[in-house]
Amino acid sequence: MADDPFENMLAQMDRAEEYADVDHGVFERLKHPERTLKVTLPVELDSGEVEVFEGYRCQFDSARGPFKGGIRYHPTVTQREVEALAGWMSWKTALVDLPYGGAKGGVICEPKDLTENDLEKLTRRYTEGIRRMIGPETDVPAPDMNTNSQTMAWLMDTYSMYEGYTVPKVVTGKPLELGGTPGRTAATGRGVSIVTERLFEYLERDLSEATVAIQGFGNVGSHAAKLLDESGARVVATSDVTGAAYDPEGLDVPTLAAHVEAGGLIEEYTDGTLRGASRDRTRWDEPDRIANEELLTLDVDVLIPAAVEGVITAENVDELRASAVVEAANGPTTVAADEVLTDRDIQVVPDILANAGGVIVSYLEWVQNSQEFSWPLETVNAELERRIGSAFDETIARYDEGDIPDLRTAAYTIALERTASAHEYRGLFP
Ligand code: NAD
Repeated sequence: MADDPFENMLAQMDRAEEYADVDHGVFERLKHPERTLKVTLPVELDSGEVEVFEGYRCQFDSARGPFKGGIRYHPTVTQREVEALAGWMSWKTALVDLPYGGAKGGVICEPKDLTENDLEKLTRRYTEGIRRMIGPETDVPAPDMNTNSQTMAWLMDTYSMYEGYTVPKVVTGKPLELGGTPGRTAATGRGVSIVTERLFEYLERDLSEATVAIQGFGNVGSHAAKLLDESGARVVATSDVTGAAYDPEGLDVPTLAAHVEAGGLIEEYTDGTLRGASRDRTRWDEPDRIANEELLTLDVDVLIPAAVEGVITAENVDELRASAVVEAANGPTTVAADEVLTDRDIQVVPDILANAGGVIVSYLEWVQNSQEFSWPLETVNAELERRIGSAFDETIARYDEGDIPDLRTAAYTIALERTASAHEYRGLFP
């Protein structure tokens, strides 16, 4: 049960219902996705073989506006996972008060085994499969795990070919040359870094004294690491699928990020440069190698899961030594583990708040596309900070207000009330 992300999401909703001012009938409606499309995608690979892939697009709730949500390419994608992720998108857009609903897409594939050409064909075929469902005013995809601005460019091109004119607004996370916004690539990691800083202010603790472990060093994890490092925190451990690197004195984040950006894996990382006076380091040692599971239980101030779902579980939660968890990944904590974290007074900034920076800047991209105008990076980053900051403040205010047990439940009560209120104003069709 706990391993099923959809059940996990429902349990999080149930936990919040007690505290949310939501009619029970409306609440029950919020537990069901509006629709999910399953598509079969035969693709002729460069190897000459025809492989038949399977993909999904789930549109969860549109009471507050067009559907919005990323597309994930991963071998473990399932319909239930896509539906859970679409639900989380709905609560996320409501919590940060964007005029959107929630959606998600996924294709079951192992991108590492596909050539660039294979990925382009797969993306175009998937776009054809879901194109009747998406559109600039109906459902706007974006990148997620293993998809990026190039994937969005192929999606936009395919959709535009069918429409007969260029439709940049059908996706966000596009390359700058195609109507993307400055700041989108780093946005989720930037949001993670902002909420971590806000959490430390709230807890009246000094972030520059803090140690941080980050599971996953992809788009989100690496940008969060760079920004937290710049703000003075000590990033002591990070990982990818191949394993984790740990240095209690602090990793050399810029060098590690350059290694990964150049296509390197964490297990291959042997490089390093002196950190200089800023960290009082006088020598460079190659980081220790530890397992991904070990990273989760390191004695650090902040643990940031930034990879996949369900990594903090009933099995390992008692071993956790971090005093705060900032959920950069979607759904990294199972419900059983969540209850233990609350009992242990470990503050958790929930995913629907912590990783909302990506969808906020996606919204800013969409607004710029609507205006056929572009904003400078400073404007985008300032607006991101304002929006995620006020969602953080609202969540804290709700948490401090009453007997709500944790920040996730506080965030959910706000999101569910906003979505339910939209449903009530709109009424039940027909
Ligand atoms: P990514 O593909 O760029 O990076 C994922 C990282 O996690 C890689 O370093 C990968 O090696 C590592 N990883 C994968 N499986 C792992 C495992 N089992 N153990 C340890 N490490 C593992 O993906 P991303 O875009 O950085 O997304 C990471 C998480 O953040 C996902 O949960 C995603 O849904 C969430 N998220 C992403 C965005 C975004 O804008 N990209 C926005 C909101 C939420």
